[in-house]
Amino acid sequence: MDLKLGTDVASAAEIAAADAVLGVPQEGWRGGVRTEVGLRTGAGGLAVRERRNELLPALHSINDRMGWISPGAVNYLAQRLDVAPAEIFGVASFYGLFSMHERAARQVHVCIDLACQMEGAVVPAGAHSSPCLGLCERAPAALVIETGTAPRQAVIGNATPSQIEVAIAGAWPDPEADVVLATPGLGPNGLGAAGIGAAGMGTAGLGTADPGSRAVPRLPLLSRIGVVDPTSLDSYRSHGGYTALRQAIARGPNAVIREVLDSGLVGRGGAAFPTGRKWEAVSRQPARPHYVVCNADESEPGTFKDRVLMEGDPFALVEAMTIAGFATGAEVGIVYLRGEYPRANDRLKNAVVQARARGLLGTNILGSGLNFDVEIFRGAGAYICGEETAIFNSIEGFRGEPRNKPPFPVESGLFGKPTVVNNVETLLNVLTIVREGAAAYTAVGTASSPGTKLFCVSGGVNFPGVYEVVFGATLRELIDLAGGLRVGRSLQAVLLGGAAGMFVRPDELDLPLTFEDTRSAGVTLGSGVIMVLDDRVDLPRFLQRVAAFFRDESCGQCVPCRVGTVRQEEAVARMITGATAADRELLDDLGQVMKDASICGLGQTAANAIESAIKRLGVFA
Ligand code: SF4
Repeated sequence: MDLKLGTDVASAAEIAAADAVLGVPQEGWRGGVRTEVGLRTGAGGLAVRERRNELLPALHSINDRMGWISPGAVNYLAQRLDVAPAEIFGVASFYGLFSMHERAARQVHVCIDLACQMEGAVVPAGAHSSPCLGLCERAPAALVIETGTAPRQAVIGNATPSQIEVAIAGAWPDPEADVVLATPGLGPNGLGAAGIGAAGMGTAGLGTADPGSRAVPRLPLLSRIGVVDPTSLDSYRSHGGYTALRQAIARGPNAVIREVLDSGLVGRGGAAFPTGRKWEAVSRQPARPHYVVCNADESEPGTFKDRVLMEGDPFALVEAMTIAGFATGAEVGIVYLRGEYPRANDRLKNAVVQARARGLLGTNILGSGLNFDVEIFRGAGAYICGEETAIFNSIEGFRGEPRNKPPFPVESGLFGKPTVVNNVETLLNVLTIVREGAAAYTAVGTASSPGTKLFCVSGGVNFPGVYEVVFGATLRELIDLAGGLRVGRSLQAVLLGGAAGMFVRPDELDLPLTFEDTRSAGVTLGSGVIMVLDDRVDLPRFLQRVAAFFRDESCGQCVPCRVGTVRQEEAVARMITGATAADRELLDDLGQVMKDASICGLGQTAANAIESAIKRLGVFA
């Protein structure tokens, strides 16, 4: 490619940061030393362009080192990867965690999203406002990023203005204690539940539905969290770790897929697609290689369950991905991890290194002939990269824009190859299914929603946190499990399913939380968000934040969403000062157009919460 570079030149530090990912350049055309012979002949362009998937890691490396991506750094990456500088700029500027302007080495990002807004988050001078940081159980929350030769990140939960000011001034926040496990308890109806609350905040587990007909189930997803040492493979193995992989290998890939199909497991990210069908479809594809991608980019405001799983039980994710690779014939698994999850990143990296060192990743795993390895790929602050095809583009070094479907990922996914994409919670269910069998798995929950489900309870409850319950528990039981409303407060509404979800009224709390019951009630489980809005919440302002979130996070690729989310925000802002019939009608139209004509789920659901607030709660009447 004939690159047109500007005159800006990368500094030695920027070159070193890029080379730490890309290696030292081999010849003059690619940023190396120019020799007379090298400049007369050019070779290897295709091979260089095939390295484009190293772009995002290289951008991370430069941003971590310098705090921003300068024009000189853009030029250097363009040369190294044989990609036009404008394209590099387009990718870098797509992501919220990268800056294209010089900035201070220390940045404090204060979340202003839904749960934090409800807790009165304020952004002091010197801090940046941020969309949801996935710390909703510890709202208000902040993320501190320090760039330089030893870059580091830390989160501050339940952040006070003075803590944020101290962090801006230069003090490093104390590392937070790990989440703690509540004692799982038995509820009045005989079924168990467990909760993981914020650090130092024990939560009580209480029970759910279906009195007396079943034994108290174990709650497999949270059972190890707070019990195992998340940094130790031995600790994981002493709590049953890697028995599922051994069983899977002993039974063979087809039997594993059969078991997952029979379990009725569906995806826990919101779309609820049957997991076994995805696995089966990928396993049958003749094209090679196959890939397993773990969608660990949960960035729906109000969602933080996958973070808790990865921080507290990282080896379980590595084991589950290995089983997915075994079943589907993939040798590479990639965890696409949300960029704002530093602790999960550290824990997962450590888990991969230990698993590799002990022969549980790599070649000939457990002497079975299975080859499989896992890479951690850091996202960079883009909500849309929770969409499966946007993940592919992001990994491949392009802007994280969703692709049209079909073709579906099971046929043409990452690098155009058959790819299975599952989120963290979905994959962890597979361990139970393989270990205990589909029959045991379907013995709890309901016929259409078997097993257990994690819910992220946040907002005006006493003990916000992640709770695991058997499908069929009611919304009221979940709120009770989280300690109920705070003293003196009354319930205004519950936002079920996150910013893309819908509101439930206080008189609907006996709604069983299953896929089928929520569907027939006209709402959605989404990614398991239960955001409790008490009487303190200014609902119109809350809706304005929802609208601003979607306007901000729309990737801009298709017109209905790009323009619709802007018009929606403007209409909500106008209606705060006085709702008119014309604006109500406009919102209706916009919602319909975005649903019908947007490429991906973001645009298709961007009007859900606002529409349901108008129709179900009577806001802006
Ligand atoms: Fe991008 Fe929105 Fe279109 Fe999705 S619906 S592709 S987020 S513009």
